[in-house]
Amino acid sequence: MTTAQAKKVFIETYGCQMNVYDTELIKSILISNQFGLTNSETEADIVMLNTCSVRDNANRKIQNRVHEIKHAKKDTLIGVLGCMATNFKTDLLENKSFPIDFIAGPDSYKTLPSLINSLLTTGNQQYDVTLSEFETYSDIQPTRQDGVNAWIAIMRGCNNFCTFCVVPYTRGRERSRNPQNIVEEVKQLVKDGYKQVTLLGQNVNSYRYEQYDFTDLMKMVSDVEGIERIRYTSPHPKDYPIKLLEVMKERHNICNQIHMPLQAGNDRVLHKMNRTYGKQEFLDLVSQIKTIIPNIAISTDIIVGFPTETETEFLDTYDVMENVQFDSAFIFKYSERPNTRAAQKFPDDVSEDDKKSRVIRLNDLQNTMSLKKNQALIGTTQAVLIEALATKKSSNEVQGRTDCNRIVILPKQNQELGQTLPCLITDATRNVLKGSV
Ligand code: SF4
Repeated sequence: MTTAQAKKVFIETYGCQMNVYDTELIKSILISNQFGLTNSETEADIVMLNTCSVRDNANRKIQNRVHEIKHAKKDTLIGVLGCMATNFKTDLLENKSFPIDFIAGPDSYKTLPSLINSLLTTGNQQYDVTLSEFETYSDIQPTRQDGVNAWIAIMRGCNNFCTFCVVPYTRGRERSRNPQNIVEEVKQLVKDGYKQVTLLGQNVNSYRYEQYDFTDLMKMVSDVEGIERIRYTSPHPKDYPIKLLEVMKERHNICNQIHMPLQAGNDRVLHKMNRTYGKQEFLDLVSQIKTIIPNIAISTDIIVGFPTETETEFLDTYDVMENVQFDSAFIFKYSERPNTRAAQKFPDDVSEDDKKSRVIRLNDLQNTMSLKKNQALIGTTQAVLIEALATKKSSNEVQGRTDCNRIVILPKQNQELGQTLPCLITDATRNVLKGSV
């Protein structure tokens, strides 16, 4: 057998930003162990699928993908990483029609080189899905993509156990990185030319390291000279102390944007989801946020058709959306995720037609609100950070973002990547603004 170090690895990433970040960590681990990386699946000796359990039919999609890869090239070694690895370890290893060679869970990426070596030496399937209470990968510098934004995972895991979510089981308990170590990373990113950092965590504002909480960390990151914009995702509504909002208001380099998952607007459904807040508490929090930071942009996530949700209860969600006037929203139909408490205890009993109709009504409402909010910006001047020197549609346009995270398309002149320019907003659709410098 050849040694692992002579092998070329292709990594395919599914799911959330945390997985994209983990792929950056995995690349660094592989490079420092003398593996080669390739962007071509056909050139690869090893394909790693960094998976997600959140989307519909995730398991079936990965099974199909594994068969496709093996069909294209029989001797390719296939590894399943990420949330599905933990969640489906036994299924994967016992299902003979599922020809995978190794499995590594989100806390086991440092063992990948030795797993692959053992696989090559013994020819036996290998796995490590141990969940750690300590692993934060703070000693690994991710192999980042070029651009103006760098993601930094400041904490991992989740203690909240929302009944529809598999993350606490696949990624383990919350643990946070040393703030000094995060600050050093931000300083290095500034030196490397990044203009914006996005602090990342499954439950980002639950960050706690010794006496430091999330507000303390935000202040420390904001104090780093040269960092122009700071964002964070995804927070939980239960962790929004006034002092955090005050810091966001005071610091010019912390963006006026909050992504705050509502999930549902009815108290009984929220309780069944184990979200630990009710409709009025959410509305009170939003009103507090808007009082402290009046020009804040708030986006959200919503699940419709959670088990037993009635039409009347759904209308509470509609009511909260109308009341809050979110800037944008990601609206999903509920579907069971294996191994969650909801899947085990609550039959998925809302009809597909009802779920579809609820998604359509919320999307219609959100589209109207987003368009109205974007149109209200026509004629204003916004600071736009240039993040791409072409758009998907044209090489004669550049793309940037406002502080509130709205996409702005500008005619191409001599803008440079990473510049922040004052732009006059001249037109708006529900998804983008158009402007001129
Ligand atoms: S807060 Fe809830 S939805 Fe978010 S990761 Fe934790 S359990 Fe999942």
